[in-house]
Parts: sequence; structure tokens; C-alpha cells
Amino acid sequence: MNVESTTDRRRFFKLVSASAAGIALLATLPRRAWAALPHLSIENSPTAKSLHYVEDDTKAVAPHQPGQDCAACVHYQGKPGDEYGPCAIFPGFDVKAKGWCAAFQKKA
Ligand code: SF4
Repeated sequence: MNVESTTDRRRFFKLVSASAAGIALLATLPRRAWAALPHLSIENSPTAKSLHYVEDDTKAVAPHQPGQDCAACVHYQGKPGDEYGPCAIFPGFDVKAKGWCAAFQKKA
């Protein structure tokens, strides 16, 4: 048996084992832990400013209605209970579940 090929095989199997352990570890992380995006604000998005985005819907301007927040909006893509989540109107950002903007549309 060739000593070099045996060593290469051992290295290969160690690498495979380490990779499998890494993948298993990633699978245990909450989805949002590695997918979090920057939080939207009127400072980092001119669109957010023009749509009067706020992180606290109780401070929103008209035409905001009580009970309207990002978690209740059709564009919100976060999971129930998440503090922040993606929004279809603001790609590349997370919006606050308790936020609001003038593009709000109630979920069906
Ligand atoms: S479109 Fe909806 S989910 Fe997105 S920021 Fe505005 S109110 Fe929130």
C-alpha cells in the first residue's frame, strides 16, 4: 500500500468529517442568526424617508390607522414573533415588525 495515498485518504476523510460537523452546526442556528440585514431607517434609505417609515407605528403619520404595523402588512416577510424581518418594498434591509410606512397594505 502506498503511504502517501493512505495519508491523503485520511486527510480527505478528516476534511469531510469537519465539513459535515460545520454544516450540522449551521443547521442548528436560527434562520435569522445568519441572514440578518441592516435595519431600515430614514437615514439609510431615501425611499424610507419619502414613505415616512417609522420603527414605532404609534408615531406614524396619516394615513396610518391604529393596528397597522409591518407585521400586519402584506409586504412583510418576517416570521411571527420576529422583532425584524425583510420587506418586499425595501430589499436589502430588515424592517421592524412594529414599524410602519405609507406603502402599508393589510394582509388578506
Ligand atoms: S411596506 Fe409594509 S412591511 Fe414594508 S415597511 Fe411599509 S408597512 Fe412595513
